[in-house]
Amino acid sequence: MKNTLSPEQLAGILEIADNAIVCTDEAQRIVFFNQGAERIFGWRAAEVIGQELAVLIPPRFRAGHGRHMAGFRSGEQQARNMGERGAIYAVRKDGSEFPAEASISRSHTARGWLMTAILQDISERQAYERALEAAKEKAEAAMQAKSMFLANMSHEIRTPLNAVIGMTSLLLNTGLDEEQRDYTETIRHSGEALLAIINDLLDYSKMEAGRLDIERHPVDLRRCVEDALDLLAPAVGGKDIELACVIEPEAPATILADAARLRQVLVNLLSNAVKFTRQGEVVVEVAAAPLEGQRHALRITVRDSGIGIPAHRLDDIFESFTQVDPSTTREYGGTGLGLAISRRLAAIMGGALSVESRLGAGSRFTLAFEAEAVGAGLARDLLQDRSGQLAGRRLLIVDDNATNRRILVRQALLWGMEAVAAASAAEALDLVRHGQAFDAAILDMHMPEMNGEQLAAEIRRAEGQGAGLPPLPLLLLTSLGQRARAGAVDGLFAAALNKPVKPAALFEALLHAMGGARPAPVPELPAPAAGIDILVAEDNTVNQKVVKQLLRHLGHRADIVANGVEALEAMERQDYGVILMDMQMPEMDGIEATRRLRRRFRGASAPWIIAMTANALPGDRERCLEAGMDAYLPKPVVLEELRRALAAGIGAVAVRRRAPEAVDPARLRELRGAAGGNDGVLEEVIAAFLDGVPPLLARAGQAIDAADGPLLAATAHYLLSSIDCVGAGRMRVPCLNLELLGKADNVEGARAELAALAREFEGAREALRAYLS
Ligand code: ADP
Repeated sequence: MKNTLSPEQLAGILEIADNAIVCTDEAQRIVFFNQGAERIFGWRAAEVIGQELAVLIPPRFRAGHGRHMAGFRSGEQQARNMGERGAIYAVRKDGSEFPAEASISRSHTARGWLMTAILQDISERQAYERALEAAKEKAEAAMQAKSMFLANMSHEIRTPLNAVIGMTSLLLNTGLDEEQRDYTETIRHSGEALLAIINDLLDYSKMEAGRLDIERHPVDLRRCVEDALDLLAPAVGGKDIELACVIEPEAPATILADAARLRQVLVNLLSNAVKFTRQGEVVVEVAAAPLEGQRHALRITVRDSGIGIPAHRLDDIFESFTQVDPSTTREYGGTGLGLAISRRLAAIMGGALSVESRLGAGSRFTLAFEAEAVGAGLARDLLQDRSGQLAGRRLLIVDDNATNRRILVRQALLWGMEAVAAASAAEALDLVRHGQAFDAAILDMHMPEMNGEQLAAEIRRAEGQGAGLPPLPLLLLTSLGQRARAGAVDGLFAAALNKPVKPAALFEALLHAMGGARPAPVPELPAPAAGIDILVAEDNTVNQKVVKQLLRHLGHRADIVANGVEALEAMERQDYGVILMDMQMPEMDGIEATRRLRRRFRGASAPWIIAMTANALPGDRERCLEAGMDAYLPKPVVLEELRRALAAGIGAVAVRRRAPEAVDPARLRELRGAAGGNDGVLEEVIAAFLDGVPPLLARAGQAIDAADGPLLAATAHYLLSSIDCVGAGRMRVPCLNLELLGKADNVEGARAELAALAREFEGAREALRAYLS
């Protein structure tokens, strides 16, 4: 339908429209100028009617505009928007320019072509947008600055703090009395606590700045969970807490994920659970449901029977720096960052972290995320090929904790065993006394009324009165810190297993117990290596924590630095025996740091360097060893591998550091062998040495007096071969130093070395004489 407005009505509307409406004729002369246009341009209609449109266009745009209009006139198009994205510019009567949005149309009239431009002044909107953009940029910059500041501060604080911790650990190796040791330990612990807080802050600032990213590699789900539990076992300490772990048999064995981050979340949740639970249980459960293809929905739950969280605070605890009851900080410690960081990590994994809890009844934290399975292996496949070896056997399980019973029964069923569970020692004894036959029994150590050890003794007594069947093989379950009496395990049990029980270890123990053969003894935690200090160079705070906790679990204390430069500094300060060195670090990477360390520290002071690297590429190992590293650990670092690498390193360093004997008996035996067992020849060699050294020492003294470097070097060099001939090991270092000083023409420092050499010669003389007699 056509417009039904009269021309007068239309003209009225055009006049009062808010926008500028300007019409021109074919010659670009203005023929219509409404009130909106008057307001926006500052011209009266009467002033511009008949003028060229160019008066409304800033001079520098006129030529372009003319071309544009010509093109539009001759084109097919009837209407177009101008400055849709960018603005066009117009000019007011007073000469000021302003940005505008315009649409333009053409229509054919009886008097020829009519162009109509509708214009809107957008300077305000643009100013507003600009201000908004600037504010946004400013906020982002401020945010960035804050994060940078936090990161820098953390770094700045960490550097002196590392020195404090390093120095106190040095101090602890000196002769301190009880009281001084106590003070020093306190400084050390406080320093470490402070470092942990700063590392949390660093993690946090990295997240704020969006610089926290996640890696994806195949992760052994069971091992990841078991590692986290291993780390927490010592924290349970003397508490009356059962630590348990259930992994659904249908869960994929291996997923694509970030093992270190996953473990960090688990460790955070577990340490909270242990921290806020006085008694009862802390249980990790892993469940999985298949999605399309290889994807699985995973749910890892950590539940405890602790103090719980009031309903109205359930959301708050995920906020940074928030604790349910600030007064608990005094009792339990903590920064209130753990859960905030964990939730962010969960989000970065594409998942979510949630909580259910009831005050006084415990809490349940659930990490839900999706991950791709690698291969078709399932958690239950562990030992599947060999499970036939246990099938059909009858197993008695005695534990007062229901969760533990459930886990053990389930595991036994998976292996095809027939399992009977008893909730108390009395119940178990009943079963045994009434002639129930079992192939093996698992006894929990920690039970009320009668503990596992007492129960074992009772079982043996009952057997003594019976029909003379072979004794029932018994396995003992203990928690760290609740060990059985020394010797008890030997007499009564085929093996003792630490809780939480790992299926692989249980399988082996059962097999050996029933087969009669003793399982290899569960390796005891190695004692902290006396006098061999460990340094960890690792920039990632997550990994720092993990490695540190793994080391702590192995009974070692370690100092931590964040890059190669810091590692070199630390090494100047303190004689670290073993260095765990990350390959990729800012400032100076592990390869370069190793090269420099190798140049700087030789002989007895050379550290044992273990490389840690995430990208286990084929050439990595070679690259590390080439740079002078002694061993290689792929990341994520796992307990067993670390234990092995550390044992090798500590052993090597201990040997390297053991002061050489005055005379090496092995060398003397060798000499004697070379002489065909003829003691006369050996005596001659020794006598030649004892007679020959004093004149050489005298000549070295003369060379020093005469400041004759080359003579000193030559004399020392000659002496060295005699020293090596009889194996007078302690004379080597001062003699070598003399040679070096002589070569460097530095005879000043040589006097002290010569005195040391003379002293060591006395020792060697005595040892050799003793050997001869
Ligand atoms: P913190 O370092 O203080 O433990 P988190 O962010 O890990 O910081 O936890 C925040 C607070 O949430 C804790 O201080 C505690 O009040 C509460 N909370 C966390 N986990 C538990 C739990 N398992 N049981 C009871 N309270 C908990």
